[in-house]
Amino acid sequence: MYFSSHLSAGLLAGALVKNPSLALGLGLISHGALDSIPHHDYGTVRAACLDLGLGLVTLRFFRTSFPNLSLALFWGAFGATVPDLEVVLKHLFPNYKLKGIYPSHNGKIKHPQRSFPCGVLAQFIMAIICLSLTYRILK
Ligand SMILES: [Zn+2]
Repeated sequence: MYFSSHLSAGLLAGALVKNPSLALGLGLISHGALDSIPHHDYGTVRAACLDLGLGLVTLRFFRTSFPNLSLALFWGAFGATVPDLEVVLKHLFPNYKLKGIYPSHNGKIKHPQRSFPCGVLAQFIMAIICLSLTYRILK
């Protein structure tokens, strides 16, 4: 699943619990839940950079708009996105041989794929719902 999709769920986690530690935990759990939804994964560095940029701009918007909950939002987003660091390492370093640690990356949680455009549309709708709920909760 895309970085910005996971990040949206992590922001919602931070908004719901309003506590950095709980947000980190809920963000980590959300990663597996989202990876289990049939989705599209991109395969180019260009798409990854675009997604990363979009996600970071979104994170900055929420953190600066709601500074009193900035830490909870950050740690929720961090927990939701950091599991994919092992996926990035595998793509950047072809000799990286370690087995995935996170359950949706090592087969313990299913990681179904859906082709373009349905797999993209599902993530877009999910991200819009998460960001709308986050904004409503914090406003
Ligand atoms: Zn993942």
